[in-house]
Amino acid sequence: MRVAVVGAGLGGVAAAVGLHRLGHEVTLFERGAELREAGTGIAVMPNGIRALDGLGLAEGFRGYVMSAASAGLRDWRGRALLVTDAAQAQREVGALAIIDRAELHRALRAPLPVELVRTATPVERLEPDPTGVTVISDGTPVARADAVIAADGIGSRLRGQLFPRHPGLRRTGRVDLRGMLPNPPGLDPADLLASQLVDRRSGAMFGLFPVGGNHLYWFTDSALHGPPPGADEARRQMLSLMADWHPLVTTLIEATPLADIYVDPIARLAEPLPSFAAGRIALLGDAAHAMTPDLGQGSSQAFEDAAAVTRHLTDAEPADVVRCFHRYDAERRPRANRIMQAASRQSWLTSQTGATAWLRDALLRAIPSRLATRRLAALWHA
Ligand SMILES: Cc1cc2nc3c(=O)[nH]c(=O)nc-3n(C[C@H](O)[C@H](O)[C@H](O)COP(=O)(O)OP(=O)(O)OC[C@H]3O[C@@H](n4cnc5c(N)ncnc54)[C@H](O)[C@@H]3O)c2cc1C
Repeated sequence: MRVAVVGAGLGGVAAAVGLHRLGHEVTLFERGAELREAGTGIAVMPNGIRALDGLGLAEGFRGYVMSAASAGLRDWRGRALLVTDAAQAQREVGALAIIDRAELHRALRAPLPVELVRTATPVERLEPDPTGVTVISDGTPVARADAVIAADGIGSRLRGQLFPRHPGLRRTGRVDLRGMLPNPPGLDPADLLASQLVDRRSGAMFGLFPVGGNHLYWFTDSALHGPPPGADEARRQMLSLMADWHPLVTTLIEATPLADIYVDPIARLAEPLPSFAAGRIALLGDAAHAMTPDLGQGSSQAFEDAAAVTRHLTDAEPADVVRCFHRYDAERRPRANRIMQAASRQSWLTSQTGATAWLRDALLRAIPSRLATRRLAALWHA
């Protein structure tokens, strides 16, 4: 069966590999001139690792399993608010990995023969008819497929084409900075590793995670005033906002070269999609369920999509596609949408200021670590 995958991000590549391994005739279309993923670290949650395992793609990540024993939320000075036993949660539901994004993408795409990939091919629209789908790029048909996986990311053009009445993305009014750097010599980050620091005065947040044995990945999340700043200005603003935080915070932000700092205005789907499938076309990853990054579940949900679509298309013939995608939608949409809403709730929780944030901190301190660990494990449990 001929399957076109549009978008060679983490989700599209994982799906293309899974479908190629089933024996389908896969073509992967990417608008970029080359296959790559830029920037910093990424957390792949236990459910995401399990999905990759199902696709035979998890082996390379064993060296990136998060080793920090405890995790959780702290205040801006680094004092514990909610402590989770990350080691116990991982024992219960499986490992979590923090990986260099570029390396993750390289490992995922490695099994894909290069002749199946068409870079510099922006897919502009899909033309479905009763027997298949024509893929159009630059006004020209570039492929005919029995099934199409639209994995064209958060700004998905194909989502807009399939669901023209859907309101699309909504900016949250937050901006995130991300950076990765080698462990600075003479600095011991152990106190803050695998933690997120929240500040009830400004509603800003800082997270810190280990990448393998010798790198650190940090991110910030704060309110955005005006247009998104460049990395230089964003770093300056963040250093000023976090000047009286735990000293490690500003030290790490200052130690990160500007070229390794990424700035993202945060957006999510304004509302859930009515379906992840339309006839012979299925949506996957951020195209289907763009969420805020607060639970670190974006890629893990894309990997669950990739594993599910691969499973549903096992042994499928062209005549089965609509039924298979219907089942894919029924399996994936409720869970992915639930997680998208949970990520928004988490964003609300960590960005509060004033009395609500004071109450939040008091309540977080009262939650026993055992209960917090159990809730974390439940979230990671597919
Ligand atoms: C600040 C921040 C931090 C995050 N942290 C995490 C984290 O720790 N853990 C996690 O799991 N997730 C995280 N995420 C989310 C995660 O990055 C995404 O969910 C994930 O990358 C989505 O993968 P995707 O394949 O769906 O889309 P993308 O990775 O966006 O890939 C889409 C691909 O499609 C291509 N494309 C687009 N349009 C076309 C077209 N018309 N034709 C052809 N190709 C096209 C693009 O060039 C791109 O290569 C974070 C996101 C942000 C913003």
